[in-house]
Amino acid sequence: MSTLRLILGDQLTRDLSALDGLDPAQDVILMAEVHDETVYAPHHKQKIAFILSAMRHFAQDLRAEGLRVDYVTLDQPGNSGSFSGEVARALKQHGCDCVVVTEPGEWRVLDMMRGWSAALAVPVEIRDDDRYFCTRGRFARWAEGRKSYRMEFFYREMRRETGLLMENDEPVGGQWNFDHDNRKSLPASVTPPPRARFSPDAVTRNVMALVATRFTTHFGDLDTFGWAVTRDGALEALSYFIDACLPLYGDYQDAMKQGEPFLFHAAISPYLNCGLLTPREICLAAEHAFRKGAAPLNAVEGFIRQILGWREYVRGIYWLRMPDYAHSNALDAHRPLPMCYWSGETKMNCIAQVVKETRANAYAHHIQRLMVTGTFALIAGIEPREVEQWYLAVYADAYEWVELPNTHGMALFADGGLLASKPYAASGAYIDRMSDYCSDCAYDVRKKTGPGACPFNLLYWHFMIINEARLSRNPRMAMPYRTLANMEPARRETIMREAEAFLQSLASGTEARGAGQITLGL
Ligand SMILES: Cc1cc2nc3c(=O)[nH]c(=O)nc-3n(C[C@H](O)[C@H](O)[C@H](O)COP(=O)(O)OP(=O)(O)OC[C@H]3O[C@@H](n4cnc5c(N)ncnc54)[C@H](O)[C@@H]3O)c2cc1C
Ligand code: SF4
Repeated sequence: MSTLRLILGDQLTRDLSALDGLDPAQDVILMAEVHDETVYAPHHKQKIAFILSAMRHFAQDLRAEGLRVDYVTLDQPGNSGSFSGEVARALKQHGCDCVVVTEPGEWRVLDMMRGWSAALAVPVEIRDDDRYFCTRGRFARWAEGRKSYRMEFFYREMRRETGLLMENDEPVGGQWNFDHDNRKSLPASVTPPPRARFSPDAVTRNVMALVATRFTTHFGDLDTFGWAVTRDGALEALSYFIDACLPLYGDYQDAMKQGEPFLFHAAISPYLNCGLLTPREICLAAEHAFRKGAAPLNAVEGFIRQILGWREYVRGIYWLRMPDYAHSNALDAHRPLPMCYWSGETKMNCIAQVVKETRANAYAHHIQRLMVTGTFALIAGIEPREVEQWYLAVYADAYEWVELPNTHGMALFADGGLLASKPYAASGAYIDRMSDYCSDCAYDVRKKTGPGACPFNLLYWHFMIINEARLSRNPRMAMPYRTLANMEPARRETIMREAEAFLQSLASGTEARGAGQITLGL
């Protein structure tokens, strides 16, 4: 009896459930680079290179253990281009009697796998992915009967269940959440540590050459590749973060600075999401730093909350609500994604900087994703599907289970408030407070209307006006709607006219060339 054990590109974990009970003498491990997965979104070149190189290194390690690995490269003759095709080919080639796989991270792939048993006429066992703190079933039990799914309550249960940062039944420090200590902008006197970079080895260089020739039209720079591609490298990146960045992680978690894309962030999400690191070992390493006095509680709690709280929570929401989750459009937003999300060509310095850094690194930190490109897409009324495709493509850590709830729910409020209690709409004042972008911008963040007014200011009120019927009864939106109620009708008209003109100039491409809302709107 021989089993075909399929390992996907985001399942690079040695104790993956699909490998439980493996018989080295009989079983074959299949790993396949397939065309369909490289093009279902126009992925950043570094994202493709990272995943393929990490897969090839992982396969090398398995072979070094003496295991039989059938590794199919992207350019291998006969590669069918799909998971289904490669499983069928491998079954035939190796004469296996059944297939074992760990559940995939995306609904689309699970749907495909559910059809395999009938199509291939062999038993296919889809096992739970036990690398998360919270199983899909556990999350469904937590969600059952609740009117709203607030992350904070889920997070507290996870703290209690795991014992992370707990003292008996109480949270360490007497509070669950230290966010009020974590909203500082970066003073000029603080210099973030350099990023932990890893030079591409021969395997990575080969993959990079393949990506450079095969994905020429995809977004992103390749020559700035600096990701680790092995478990050892990922552990090194984690340990560098814990020592050099974690102590100030909390303080400057929300800050943005030109030329400093990583600040005090971990930049470990690509490793975590592809399985080179596990959430448990990361949280334990952070907790250990706190217990030995190497990092303060506000930083460690804030960091652990991102992984134990947010990451597990968005995964829970994804599996609870898919496939319908992706289709809602609660704010009826239909504008196309502006070209500047790809080109970076815009006079809005905040957007230009984030797109430039995203192109160079396949990375932007959370506040850049949420409060710059995310908020702009929200207040400009961009079609959720188009924004989601962009987020899925441009970041090395992007997989639908984590990208979709963050974009659809958190950034765009397209789920009508299932995930976030209010839209993250903000004027330019937020970006000005948390970054140095505005001082180098062609627009004036202090101007609300008229020539040179910051587009975030105009679009913020435009968003409030056009969504008044949908949002004004939300208690968390009471303040802006009170301000709006007291606004002179003439001012409302000016905002509407200038914002519409700006959006028109963005769509036509004239905004980037200098004839933005200033001339069109007056
Ligand atoms: C619109 C939008 C899209 C996003 N898309 C993705 C995505 O495709 N993949 C992805 O991993 N994260 C996504 N995030 C969440 C978050 O921005 C990234 O996880 C984070 O920026 C990764 O960088 P880091 O490792 O330096 O994070 P840190 O700030 O150092 O945080 C540590 C870890 O916490 C986890 N984490 C933090 N915030 C979140 C969150 N909101 N949801 C899930 N995990 C979180 C990540 O695993 C991260 O590595 C998105 C956020 C937004 C607003
Ligand atoms: S002025 Fe407005 S557009 Fe320019 S960087 Fe600041 S927030 Fe962005």
